Amino acid sequence: MITAKDMGRFRLTPRLGIIFVLAVVIPSLVLAGLALSSAAREEAYLEKRLEGTLLAEVSALASRIGVALEEVRAELDKSAPSSAGTGALSALRSWRTRSDLVGVPFLLSPAQEILWPDRGGELGAQERSFLKWNEEFLTGRLPVPVYQNIAAVYKDEILAGGAGPEKKAEQEVQPEQAAPAAQEVLADSAVRAKQEVQEAINRFEQQEEVRKKVFARAEEQGQELARRTVSPSAKSQALSEPRPEASMFISKSLTLEDITREASSGLIPRFTADGLSLLFWKKEGGGRVAGCALDMGGFQKRMAGLILDLYSPSRILTLLDERGRPLASPPGQESRDWRRPFVAREIHETLPRWEAAAYLTDPGLIPSQARFRSGVLWALVSILFVSIAAGGTLVLATLHGEMTLARQKTSFVAGVSHELKTPLTSIRMFAEMLKEGRQPDRKKRAQYLELMLSETERLSRLIGNVLDFSRLEQGQRSYRKRRLDAAALCSTLVEGQRLRLEQKGFALSLRLPQAALAVEADEEALKQVLLNLLSNAENYSLAARSIEVEAEAVRGLPLQGGLPLQGETPPSGGFALIRVLDRGIGVPAEHRQKIFKEFYRVDDSLTSRVKGTGLGLSIARRIAEDHGGSLECLPREGGGSCFQLKLPLAGTV
Ligand code: ADP
Repeated sequence: MITAKDMGRFRLTPRLGIIFVLAVVIPSLVLAGLALSSAAREEAYLEKRLEGTLLAEVSALASRIGVALEEVRAELDKSAPSSAGTGALSALRSWRTRSDLVGVPFLLSPAQEILWPDRGGELGAQERSFLKWNEEFLTGRLPVPVYQNIAAVYKDEILAGGAGPEKKAEQEVQPEQAAPAAQEVLADSAVRAKQEVQEAINRFEQQEEVRKKVFARAEEQGQELARRTVSPSAKSQALSEPRPEASMFISKSLTLEDITREASSGLIPRFTADGLSLLFWKKEGGGRVAGCALDMGGFQKRMAGLILDLYSPSRILTLLDERGRPLASPPGQESRDWRRPFVAREIHETLPRWEAAAYLTDPGLIPSQARFRSGVLWALVSILFVSIAAGGTLVLATLHGEMTLARQKTSFVAGVSHELKTPLTSIRMFAEMLKEGRQPDRKKRAQYLELMLSETERLSRLIGNVLDFSRLEQGQRSYRKRRLDAAALCSTLVEGQRLRLEQKGFALSLRLPQAALAVEADEEALKQVLLNLLSNAENYSLAARSIEVEAEAVRGLPLQGGLPLQGETPPSGGFALIRVLDRGIGVPAEHRQKIFKEFYRVDDSLTSRVKGTGLGLSIARRIAEDHGGSLECLPREGGGSCFQLKLPLAGTV
């Protein structure tokens, strides 16, 4: 188990930080790439999903129509009057009135003469048109095209060529698993043939490759290939002219005799000037053939009744006739382009050019849904990236900060130890010399004592700094503020240091105002700030050894910087401005802000000569700010540095 102690031992190093960031960034990039590429395919994906659902609906409607056609045939077969006997003709007439499906009844003699409609009698317009279009066919002089499913025609080729391993396995398994009764059925050749046809049709419909091959083969064999009335594939090329696809029904010219040879009744589709019409025929006793041209109005009405769910909020499901006109359409959809369904299926060989079709109620729905989904994805991915970038930057910045602080603390400890050791060593050395009485000269002895004293002062200043820092850090430092003259304080301090500094070769100048500079301040704290500035000026000077201290009262200056900023109102009372200037090594511009941070030291060969802690200026600035003032480092013309302390003026002392 990982304990809190273990966790404490775990440290985030830069290397670990980078590994951590990469471990987040790389998988996120991959995930985002995948998400965005799927967003690009979103429209096609949604389209495909909807296509599947609608195709199932359309197919169900097509098979309902297939079943209904068989029912129509059976109904007509049942209701057709027997032509035997004398009342045959009147029965034919009454057949028409009894059924809404019967248009023009007909009766053929065994020698294929038209017994009815009777050319000798009065003929209505319907009968005349019927005879015009059908006479030659019914009398056996003209073969007519009879439609067949191309897949049924090329059944053997499809089953031989396109059978994949799965299908084969299925075929092998089925008979073994089937119940004995079902095996008998399977054994029945007619049923098997029907199953094979269905299997071929399925493969033809599902496999593009098979479809292509079969169409090519049919064309090769001189079959006439028809085109469909609609073009569902044009949905993605919305603007282009729809290109109807090849129809899956091909025709074969047969005479009535050929057609009636194998069955006892049936329906034959025929194209006339009025469009598609259906002929029902039935073999009667004595070699006669009776039948009728269907009343297409009644027939269409029946078929339209099979569209159970014409309209839903997402789609319209309907049947299209041979001219591509809907048998039923919801109100308000008149202007729709019915030739471009979303999905469509041809229905049956008895109804060539008819289609069961589905349309999207709102064609813009899929693109807008896809746009919405990919919009959401893009937004999420963008948020993810911004968060990763921000988080990564934060981690690395924190890490960098931590590392810098750790480095500064180490050098602080080294600095403090050195600072403590140097004065201690000299104090000890002088103390030992004095104790052993090795120095007979009184003057020298006094000098030693003087040196010991100043070293002790240096020590206590250093310790004071460290203590101050920790107190300031914890917000525990309290000030005893009183009104005092900052100019007088400067003068006392500088004069106190003058002798020592001049002995070290420094030229010291002091420029003070006539009047007192009244400020509200803690005297000790203010002394600490000024002494720190003076000792820095001393420490960071090389050959050019001059220190200037200036103090004045200024009005109209902002808290930060030397010039009033436009639009900024300076504090009404003005400032006591104290500057400590030197001609030392100066502070490069890029470090002028940073030197006020705790532990920060300019890292170059000139500075490293001087041992320090990097604490003095940060404490000094904190004190200045605690007094409502500021401490800044300004560039100085001619080299060196200028530290400027501003404290708010407080009336008179
Ligand atoms: P310390 O002097 O102990 O390093 P300070 O906080 O007083 O700490 O100073 C921070 C840094 O600022 C110093 O290390 C030095 O690099 C720079 N600095 C301060 N005063 C001066 C100055 N008068 N001239 C040049 N550099 C200075």
